[in-house]
Amino acid sequence: MSRTSRAITLAAALALSSIAADAAGAPSPGRPQTPGDRTQAVLATACAGHDKWADPAPPARIFGNTWYVGTCGISAILVTGAKGHILIDGGVAKAAPLVLANIRKAGFDPKQVRWIVASHEHFDHVGALAALQRETGAKVAALPAQKAVFETGKPSKEDPQGAGLDSIAPVKIDRVLKDGATVVVGSLVITAHATPVHAPGSTSWTWRSCASTSDCHSIAYADSTSTISSDGYRFTDHPDRVAAIRQGLPKIAALPCDILLTPHPSQSAMMERFAGTKPLTDTSACRTYVTAAEDRFAARLQKEAKEAR
Ligand SMILES: [Zn+2]
Repeated sequence: MSRTSRAITLAAALALSSIAADAAGAPSPGRPQTPGDRTQAVLATACAGHDKWADPAPPARIFGNTWYVGTCGISAILVTGAKGHILIDGGVAKAAPLVLANIRKAGFDPKQVRWIVASHEHFDHVGALAALQRETGAKVAALPAQKAVFETGKPSKEDPQGAGLDSIAPVKIDRVLKDGATVVVGSLVITAHATPVHAPGSTSWTWRSCASTSDCHSIAYADSTSTISSDGYRFTDHPDRVAAIRQGLPKIAALPCDILLTPHPSQSAMMERFAGTKPLTDTSACRTYVTAAEDRFAARLQKEAKEAR
């Protein structure tokens, strides 16, 4: 073991022991954010040079009652409350035990997760959901376009990436959501926004988190804005898909968004922001995220038009 990796391991162990001490000393849900919470820095350090989908990561408090419980390469977000918790995304199938362990390490009981929801119906974000549903006993809520994929486990034919996606273990849907619907656990309220840019069922989630009564932020877990496809797929042949993307992007730009979180941490420099080299809070983050995506999508359509000539 190198000196650096020993230092990282030590830092991670210290941070986890302080999380455990916090959890033992106070009722964990909604306990105040302590100044000098080092968990984000520890997560960023542990994931430096590791961004694979199943690379284990320590949990970190993002803000107030909002926790990162995913792997280095794929987000899983836990929003905690006194009456139970909400989990957003679970990562690849292999990540299920890592996410469960992170919920525990953060000081919470997986059996207190009441609802599980998702960003989009691709195996890298929801491959773990069936196992997480089984282990937590939580209910699962989804928009109609996600429901079909969850229940069959098969990628959607409407999905530009459909031909190249792995199947998932089927997930039972307990509640079908409409755009704008809320999922509520006690005083926790998270809102579903249909943002069908990356996949037909793409959903962005927003909520308020407070570190104290006067220090609150709007958090947006905005779905992926990448408009990639399997080989041979042309967006130009699918005007409905193009229209859905054009409708979804401005919705993401307009989300209440003091802190932007994304299903792939790299899509919004989450690890850099956890490391403190970029600001965690940026009220223009969702707009910036969308502007870059609009440019990429315009370039893609242009390329298709050129190839068709
Ligand atoms: Zn993905």
